[in-house]
Amino acid sequence: MSDTPLIVPHDTPPLQQALAALQQRMAAACQRSGRDPASVRLLAVSKTVAAPVIAQAWMAGQIDFGENYVQEALEKQSLWPHIRPHDGDSARPDPVWHLIGPLQSNKTAVVARQFAWVHSVDRLKIAQRLSDQRPEGLPPLNVCVQVNVQGEIGKSGVPLAEAQALCAAIALLPRLRLRGLMVIPDPDRGASATRAAFEALAALRDRLVASGLQGLDTLSMGMSGDLEDAIAAGSTCVRVGTALFGARTAPPAG
Ligand SMILES: *Cc1c(COP(=O)(O)O)cnc(C)c1O
Repeated sequence: MSDTPLIVPHDTPPLQQALAALQQRMAAACQRSGRDPASVRLLAVSKTVAAPVIAQAWMAGQIDFGENYVQEALEKQSLWPHIRPHDGDSARPDPVWHLIGPLQSNKTAVVARQFAWVHSVDRLKIAQRLSDQRPEGLPPLNVCVQVNVQGEIGKSGVPLAEAQALCAAIALLPRLRLRGLMVIPDPDRGASATRAAFEALAALRDRLVASGLQGLDTLSMGMSGDLEDAIAAGSTCVRVGTALFGARTAPPAG
């Protein structure tokens, strides 16, 4: 890859510019680590982002969208057939929806029906429900286990010491496909602690693979502010909101 800056025509819409800039950031980070840019997926975090803006991002080529709140995501998904832009490109896949926020057991049935991925599984009970409730007509639900690498009290994620047992149990569930691990480091602990958390997640993935677990191709780590460090540590999926859609405002009422 060359260092030639990406030329974005001046009349390119802002969202397309932001997407191009982000892809360039990711490619530069991959290049510094000697990694193939195709090995890192961009998950556009669209929480609080209105459905028509998601449609613009989709038009610009973005396919994977991450949502935190189940109800908000369902509303946008139900709008999609009505707002889907018609550009004559029938081959363009519809959005692939990823749940990246906390999941309560009373929402597992709808999530098992409506999402392709869940990044935030941290309890066997939730995983069992998702597996039981995944409709037969759909492929297995892709899941990542969220790990509380930094041992934060009261935060989501399975404790590091329990992660291997949880992953081994989830790998046996018939309607789930365990794809890997996810972490959200505490930004208040600083950049070096964040890097250590990314490296700890990658090391855990390596231990799981060594223990015989198969198909672990995903490290979901890195956001707008730290995606370079995440990619250096081996991230295969960066979850980016602000750097793509701008600063978040409160979700619209109703
Ligand atoms: C909001 C959120 C993101 C995106 O954060 P940005 O800093 O806006 O890129 C990523 N992952 C999770 C789990 C989030 O909740």
